[in-house]
Amino acid sequence: YLGFPAGLSGGDLARRGLAQARRLGAEILSPIEVVGIRRQDPYRVVTLGDGSEISCQAVVVATGVSYRQLEIPNAARLAGAGIYYGAATTEAVLYRDLDVAVVGGGNSAGQAAVYLSRFARSVKVLIRGPDLTATMSQYLIEQMAALPNVEVRPMVQVVGVDGEQQLERATLETIPDGDRQEMEMAALFVFIGQTPRTDWLEAAVLRDKAGFVLSGREVLDGGKPPPGWGTDREPFLLEASVPGVFVAGDVRYRSVKRIASAVGEGSMAVQFVHQYLATI
Ligand SMILES: Cc1cc2nc3c(=O)[nH]c(=O)nc-3n(C[C@H](O)[C@H](O)[C@H](O)COP(=O)(O)OP(=O)(O)OC[C@H]3O[C@@H](n4cnc5c(N)ncnc54)[C@H](O)[C@@H]3O)c2cc1C
Repeated sequence: YLGFPAGLSGGDLARRGLAQARRLGAEILSPIEVVGIRRQDPYRVVTLGDGSEISCQAVVVATGVSYRQLEIPNAARLAGAGIYYGAATTEAVLYRDLDVAVVGGGNSAGQAAVYLSRFARSVKVLIRGPDLTATMSQYLIEQMAALPNVEVRPMVQVVGVDGEQQLERATLETIPDGDRQEMEMAALFVFIGQTPRTDWLEAAVLRDKAGFVLSGREVLDGGKPPPGWGTDREPFLLEASVPGVFVAGDVRYRSVKRIASAVGEGSMAVQFVHQYLATI
């Protein structure tokens, strides 16, 4: 992340951001879950997990994504103890000269495999399909093919994981015949998709099929504003399908999923909040 040439952990970055926001006068309610939002013009009313409500004139939704987990026995127990979700950069160094595996056939899985190959003795990429062409960029497929310690294992799915304190092995099932075999591994890096944390929004704003929040011109239907829009202007760039509700970061449809872009969008959203407040 820009400005930290030696890197820093997510927790550290968040702590610094929190201290800075407090110093600038932000009021932080934590821990608290937002469970709903409704429009009660001119207010947007946010419901909290304890049943209380906050009414305000504008809201920025920045609830991020959660990573899809392996739903097999022992996976939850071994999460963080050999099973990792969504990234490999922090843990890769722990698995120097050991055998590891990556689950998933998308670009994030490919990037992780290439990165892990610099540390691990072997990296097995486990995919359910016959090959990677439909799901991964060609440049990554070529990079992996050129690495002697990376091997793609097609037509398999992980159906079991085991280990005492740490992951030691996984059970793989071949598709379609269902034959099972065990594979020894010190770590399993899982890249099987992300789910936006937007269930709490329900039908309040338009979302895509996966649940990511649409904004700006994405909410227009054939150039027309969404039903109930209620003003004669078009939505601002990061404005959702309800005036005064904005979206920033990973939770936004087609967002980049990087810290710099999430922070940048947050900053843009605040500019649009000011423009919105000037219209009401
Ligand atoms: C392991 C890992 C490593 C990564 N490494 C990098 C990296 O090196 N560089 C990089 O640029 N990006 C990295 N990323 C991606 C980066 O973390 C995200 O792009 C960024 O954090 C997105 O910020 P955000 O504010 O949109 O969402 P988040 O950071 O996910 O923040 C969302 C917040 O909203 C809270 N929340 C969710 N729902 C509710 C609710 N209903 N009520 C109240 N609060 C709620 C969550 O608890 C969370 O605190 C990494 C991601 C992971 C998982």
